[in-house]
Amino acid sequence: MTTGSAPFDFQGKHVTVAGLGVSGIPAARALHARGALVTVVNDGDDARSREQAEALEALGITVRLGDGATLPEGTELIVTAPGWQPGKPLFQAAAEAGVPVWGDVELAWRLRGPDAAPWLAVTGTNGKTTTVRMLAAILEAAGLRTAAVGNIGVSLLDVVLGEETYDVLAVELSSYQLHWAPSLRAHSAAVLNLAPDHLDWHGSMEAYAADKGRIYAGNQVACVYNVADKATEDLVREADVEEGCRAIGFTLGTPGPSQLGVVDGILVDRAFVENRQKNAQELAEVSDVRPPAPHNIANALAAAALARAFGVPAQAVRDGLRSFRPDAHRIEHVADLDGVAYVDDSKATNTHAAQASLAAYESIVWIAGGLAKGATFDELVAASAKHLRAVVLIGADRALIREALARHAPEVPVVDLDRTDTGAMLQAVTEAKRLAVAGDTVLLAPACASMDMFTNYNQRGDAFATAVGELRA
Ligand code: ADP
Repeated sequence: MTTGSAPFDFQGKHVTVAGLGVSGIPAARALHARGALVTVVNDGDDARSREQAEALEALGITVRLGDGATLPEGTELIVTAPGWQPGKPLFQAAAEAGVPVWGDVELAWRLRGPDAAPWLAVTGTNGKTTTVRMLAAILEAAGLRTAAVGNIGVSLLDVVLGEETYDVLAVELSSYQLHWAPSLRAHSAAVLNLAPDHLDWHGSMEAYAADKGRIYAGNQVACVYNVADKATEDLVREADVEEGCRAIGFTLGTPGPSQLGVVDGILVDRAFVENRQKNAQELAEVSDVRPPAPHNIANALAAAALARAFGVPAQAVRDGLRSFRPDAHRIEHVADLDGVAYVDDSKATNTHAAQASLAAYESIVWIAGGLAKGATFDELVAASAKHLRAVVLIGADRALIREALARHAPEVPVVDLDRTDTGAMLQAVTEAKRLAVAGDTVLLAPACASMDMFTNYNQRGDAFATAVGELRA
């Protein structure tokens, strides 16, 4: 059973909640219900915040709009929305005053009941949502009461305070959430991979890695790492875990003892078997993983490792993976036209994700571009050049990709679309269709955020699918 933090008595405590919003409002309510004297502070002061403030004030909660920087007098604890940057003046003031800061995950962790379900936790730069969903599917196949929760879009606070009871939770955690979760202690946890992302928020790659590494703190049974990504193994080595907790690697190659890996198209476990020097347990076939792209098989192995750490039988791993359906816009097969596959990986919003996607297909017409968020593209283009039939560039920062292509893949034809209106995607797909030959894949894996042209990655992926539909018609 998970332990790690003393019960906290909120009665009469002055608690400041930083941020009105999806995590702040339920946090304020939960704290108020436990007798805390709650003040909510919020940077914005628009019509919507005023409406939300009124609803909280009606309960007796104080709300201060238009000033999220000043620490309210007498604050004994801050509960912050995970996205609030550590460098904000509010947190500097808190540090000077010795006031602790918790995020939404820490609050949920502290409010768990004594018999609460243990957490199997997943973080990483890419693949979190997919892995957590696979994990939940495997746990369900084992007959356990479980849910995929956390950064996936299901509030941990709601789950922890809700009526439903669980045997175990599959928890997705972002680096922001981990930053603000000092006493979280998972049963077992995985860091899938580590590539530069959100560095403006964390301040440096070291700080980002350290926040991801917090997921291993106090693990009881297994710290799961990626054999192909040494940085994840380093985090395990540095982690302070419960006695007896094991380091478990996952690899797309043949697994060594205490690893899960792949042998002749079979996912095998050499970690949770008797006599692991000699024995291996078959878990599933590679073809049971959908889609069977290499990075997705890695996700499946990580999910399997966590499930096996929890004692799930091999059969449930196979059944769970077979029942798993990937979320939309994640290497989603949209259609085949004239022998060419059209694949939507709009969720590949950074170069690390796009590189994994591009490695999954032989010959690709690549649709890329958008907001680069400070990224550089040399490594991605150099590693992927051999897969590229042609490239169609869209979006605000497409020149950065064009320049990287000129340096590392000068022979690859590039179409540069200088438009950002809603018809741009149709033109991009039309160009891609013209460039593709039978057997190719037209792959939307933008390596960039979408907000220069679209509301979000969902809308960008939908625009791609609509354009493919129009070409088919
Ligand atoms: P996250 O929740 O971490 O954003 P998702 O499971 O939603 O991850 O996948 C996001 C994108 O990342 C996918 O569309 C794919 O391009 C890429 N991806 C998924 N798994 C991996 C992985 N293990 N390594 C690298 N890239 C990955």
